[in-house]
Formats: sequence, structure tokens, C-alpha cells
Amino acid sequence: MDTKQFKERAYEVIDKICEYYDNIEKYPVKSQVKPYELFNKLPDEAPDKPDNFEEVMKDFDEIIMPGITHWQSPKFFAYFPSNTSEPSILAEMLISAIAAQSMKWVTSPIAAELEEKVMNWLRNETGLPQNFSGVIQDSATSSTLLSLLTAREKKSEYKINENGFSNENFVVYCSTQTHSSIEKDVKIAGIGKNNLRKISVNDEFSMNYQELEKQIKLDINNGLNPLCIISALGTTSSGAFDSIDKIGLIAKKYNIWFHIDAAYAGSAFILPEYRNYLNGIEYADTYVFNPHKWLFTNFDFSAYFVKDKKALLQTFEIIPEYLKTKTYGLVNDYCDWGIPLGRRFRALKMWFVFRLIGTDEIKNKIQNHIKFAEFFENELLKDNDFQLVTNRNMNIVCFRFYLDRFKLEEINSKNEQLLEKINKTGKIFLSHTKLNDIFTIRFVPGQTYTEKKHIKEALEVIINCKNELKY
Ligand SMILES: *Cc1c(COP(=O)(O)O)cnc(C)c1O
Repeated sequence: MDTKQFKERAYEVIDKICEYYDNIEKYPVKSQVKPYELFNKLPDEAPDKPDNFEEVMKDFDEIIMPGITHWQSPKFFAYFPSNTSEPSILAEMLISAIAAQSMKWVTSPIAAELEEKVMNWLRNETGLPQNFSGVIQDSATSSTLLSLLTAREKKSEYKINENGFSNENFVVYCSTQTHSSIEKDVKIAGIGKNNLRKISVNDEFSMNYQELEKQIKLDINNGLNPLCIISALGTTSSGAFDSIDKIGLIAKKYNIWFHIDAAYAGSAFILPEYRNYLNGIEYADTYVFNPHKWLFTNFDFSAYFVKDKKALLQTFEIIPEYLKTKTYGLVNDYCDWGIPLGRRFRALKMWFVFRLIGTDEIKNKIQNHIKFAEFFENELLKDNDFQLVTNRNMNIVCFRFYLDRFKLEEINSKNEQLLEKINKTGKIFLSHTKLNDIFTIRFVPGQTYTEKKHIKEALEVIINCKNELKY
């Protein structure tokens, strides 16, 4: 393909993208294919000669698109959103065209400098402390792993990196509601799942900090070594917030590393009225949130912040001869701020988002998402067959179809049937969780293009499906 051919194809692809967004509501939001239905339509061998573009695009329509769940549909209300925006897509196009590696400052100076700049913008816009330094990671899972590894190294005076473990007896604390990635990271960091204490939660699903302190004392008395506390601001099931001021004080008292996972809700701290949840942030050693969830920036973009940049570098930095540079120490070489060497130029998309949308409109959109959830909740509860399973946090509504004459298992199974029925319509997509053994349907409006009419349509679908199930 020469640039002339590329240009033609690129225009065709742009047309396709626009057509996709213009018609996105026509697709079933959740892909309706069966396992391997599409796999079996694909040939077993890769082609030795190129296929022509038209054929590939035909297969794109017929084989690829049916297997897509439309995360950018305004009627996607499942999990958490992973939203995007036109500015972010435009930046992704440029990033993929330039295809530079931004591992070292010297391998593309502006990639490093723009990363530092947009991370400062994100820090300032979401009310984080000025002494935090930021770096872009691929995911919150990776960011939390970095935090645990840094905690591990700092606590062991960097001996584990040198010699491996020698009976450190580390213990890590989180609540029963924290994300599964914490457990995964504790395993990868070599601490062991059995040394992760899952502290109970209160009625609002936020960590019982008295329970936390009791457990820490117990562990110390048993000769164990509390390493790290991980708090959630915005849990995945219900968006619950831990009291990080209380927990932070405990971390300080016992000299325990303190990491905060605000993967989803962190974006909403761009709204000053939600920053009360950040009271106690000064106790945090590290903090993560995902602009790739709720800040209109394509996956992947996880914003990881650290207080002690030196400890981070001391944990990860490795400089073989072929990566030595004259600018060492003067600039940020971000490959030493995390695991992979190679890094995409991700800062550009955040920069495009800030510059082409602006913080006023970003705030407006997030505020609307929260208002939509409030509207949804009020309308849904007008139907006496529905109840909330817990109070709404931000734009996360946790509800169920309630039948008081039935036992819990029967109600759970009815709700499971209801959810399946709703998603089979293809009109909307919702997901579920369990809260205190209650099968809970979650409704999270956070897509860039969601409007009130989509919320109304969702209410209609949910209530109709419930009525069909009931009678
Ligand atoms: C989504 C989420 C994660 C995992 O995020 P990834 O970036 O996909 O690793 C972790 N914690 C919370 C609270 C989340 O909502």
C-alpha cells in the first residue's frame, strides 16, 4: 500500500466509523453470538497472498461486527463504562500513525514531557495533592501491582529485588468489596493470597476500619508484618467509598503503606462537590484512577500517582548499556516507572480530550451521567416491584425485582432470569453483582452519548421484561 492507496482506504475507514456511530443504536448492545460461532467461519491458515481490501471489509461487517458488544452504545449500562470521544479517537489515529515508542525521554522527548504535563493536569483537575507525581499505566490492575511491589521493596530495604523473599511474613489488607485485581496482584507480588486480609464492610459496603485496626494488631501480635492497606474509592459492585481519612490514620499509626484504588470514581473528582471523599488523601502513598473508564479517553489510560518517586524508581529502574542516555536524571524516563519497556504515546489522547472538550464540558457530561442515574432510580422505584439493594453512589444504581412472598434463592433466580431477558432484547445491556448474597442488577449510565431518552427506553425495557416474567 502506498500513501495514495492508504489515503483512499483511510477515507473509507473514516466513513465507516462515522456510519457506525450514526447507527450504533441499531446493533444489539450485547453481542448475541454463541461460543465459536464466528471462529469457525474463519479459515484455519493465514493467507500467503494479500486479500483485497473490499473482501476484508466485507468480512469485517459479516464476521467481526456480530461479535462486538457495543461499549460505545448510549444504551450500554453494564459494568463500568469504558467511554471514548471523537478527540480521543483522532489522537489514537495519530498515535498509531507515528507509532513511536516512548520508553525513554530520548526515544521521543515530547511523549515524556506531554505525559508529565497531562498527568499534572489530571492531578490538579481531580483535587489530588501537589506532591503526587503521575505516570500513565495500561490498567488499574498494573498500577496496584506497582504499588505493592514498591511497598514490598521499600519495606525490605530493596532486599527482595536482590535476594528474593526470606520470611518477611507480609500481610496486605483490603475490604471484602475491593476489586478482584487486588487478589491477583497480591499473588503476583509473591505475597500470597492467604496473606490478604479481606476486612468486613458496614451497611454502606465501606471498610469497617475498627475491624481493620483489630486485625492489624492481631497480625502484629502473631509476628506478622503488615505491609500495605488498599482502600477503594468507588467499589466495583456498588460504588462504595472507604473512609480514607480514618484508614489513612491507621496506616500512619502502624507505618503501613497506603494505596487507593479509585479506578472508576476517580474521574468524578473533577467535580469539586465530590471531593469530600478525598478527605485523608494526604495519607496515601499511591493512588490510581482510570481516565479510560469515565473520562472520554480510549482504553488504555490508567493514571497512577505516587508520593515517593524515588522509591518507585529504586524498585523498577534498570539501565543496560544500550539504554544509557546523556539526559539521565534531568528528564523522566518512564520505562523505569513501571513494568514494560516499550510504551505507547498515550499522553496525546488525554491532551486532545482536554484541549478539544475542555474541563467545563467534561464536568457537565459527568454531572449529567449522575443526574441520569438519579432520574432512573426515581422512575424505577415508582414501580413497587423494584427496590434498591443499596443506596446509589454517583451513577451506580443497584436494584432488584422484589417479591416478598418468596425466599432469597427464588428471588435471586427471578432476577437472574430478568437480567437475561433484558439483555436478550439487545436493546440495552446491564450487568449484575451480588451484595450480601442478594443477586443485584446494576445500571450505570456513563457513555459519552447517553441522553435522557436512552434512560427512558431502558426503564421501558426493564419494566416490560419484569411484567412478562411476573404474569
Ligand atoms: C475497573 C476496576 C479495576 C480494574 O481496572 P483495569 O484498568 O481494567 O485493571 C480495579 N479496581 C476498580 C475499583 C475498578 O473499578
